[in-house]
Amino acid sequence: MKKFFLIGLLFLLCACSNDNVTLETIIENKKSMAIAINYPLTKIKKLDDEILKYIEEVNSAFKNEYENYDLNSSELNIDYKYFKTDNYINVELYTFINSSILAHPINEIKTIVYDTKKNKIIKLSDFIDLEKLKELVPVIKQKIISKYKDCVVMESLTTEIIPDFSKYENFTISDTLNIYFEPYVITSGFCNIIEINIEIPELKKDKNVEEKTIKHTSITKTINPNQKVVAITFDDGPSKYTSSILDILKKNDACATFFVLGNKVAIYKDTLNKAINYGNEIGNHSYNHKWLTRLSLEEFKNQIDKTQDIIYENTNYIPTLFRPTYGSVNNKIKNNTDLDIVLWDVDSLDWKLKNSKKIINRIIDDISDMDIVLFHDTYKSTEQTIEKIIPMLKEKGFQFVTVSELYEIKKIRNQLDFYK
Ligand code: ZN
Repeated sequence: MKKFFLIGLLFLLCACSNDNVTLETIIENKKSMAIAINYPLTKIKKLDDEILKYIEEVNSAFKNEYENYDLNSSELNIDYKYFKTDNYINVELYTFINSSILAHPINEIKTIVYDTKKNKIIKLSDFIDLEKLKELVPVIKQKIISKYKDCVVMESLTTEIIPDFSKYENFTISDTLNIYFEPYVITSGFCNIIEINIEIPELKKDKNVEEKTIKHTSITKTINPNQKVVAITFDDGPSKYTSSILDILKKNDACATFFVLGNKVAIYKDTLNKAINYGNEIGNHSYNHKWLTRLSLEEFKNQIDKTQDIIYENTNYIPTLFRPTYGSVNNKIKNNTDLDIVLWDVDSLDWKLKNSKKIINRIIDDISDMDIVLFHDTYKSTEQTIEKIIPMLKEKGFQFVTVSELYEIKKIRNQLDFYK
């Protein structure tokens, strides 16, 4: 009987550029409220202040409004898009609020455009003058009609699409001028936030094509199936703490599984590639942490597929695991994904305790052979916990495996009649 087995893994290493942008995350799951907020910080003070002001306003308004309803849970989700050109940094912040006391969910957008030459946040009137806006009005109308013919309300076009800058607060600048409208402004609720793109001759295409160097490395692990194993898992990242967590794991010859959010992958692609290169596993934790059991089938699939795609685009890695947000699963989720759904055996409650001593005390005696342990790589206190708890678990005789390796060990043990 073979006592040891090898898991040979082939990994792709990608040398990629790094931006100065970090992602901040607030995820709370209280009795009556589920909150998931993601936003970028750029180290440009004026821009960051504007982003933070919006996040704080929405978050506190949501809490004030919904805190006292505890019959049914309310959900706040803020997601972002970030992109820049030679002259402009663009941030789009998308707010989604759902609650049983609302007739329909609320979808809002806030855009911020930062001019890197003038070092200031600009309005549309800083970019084009009134004469130009007058010229654009018929173009905007035509674009809306052709792109959103199923939901446009024609009377609203007449009152809203006029040469008045106050009507165009949400815009971004890429190789086109992009203008956004929230639902119920010029469209019925049938359409979500709408976006039209207008060609402006001055905005020449300046898309940088990134050079990618792809190098192959292979990692071989030796795991003794007769010895205790534990799978450490992290949700909601990557974040600015993930890279040092990876270093701690590597220092201890340990590995883990990271259930990442699709909307963080591009900014933290270096971290994600490092995780893969160090022999960790990557799983899918949805695109922007929406409460998945409440979504339509199409929206649910979109959350999963978008995340699979962006992970693959940035790392050449295809996840096979999926961890549902808020640990919430139903048959719609079970029957509509090919990914293995992974929950956990031990919950560190790190997001709540935020103190490494308290976290370790809570879980150290509960962790047993074959357990999956839940952490979040979005807190400094979790990084500190990992630094202490990994050597403690090693001392107790645990081997660290990824979730897929844990499944393999289960199979091998069954073949070895381990559980007899
Ligand atoms: Zn989560």
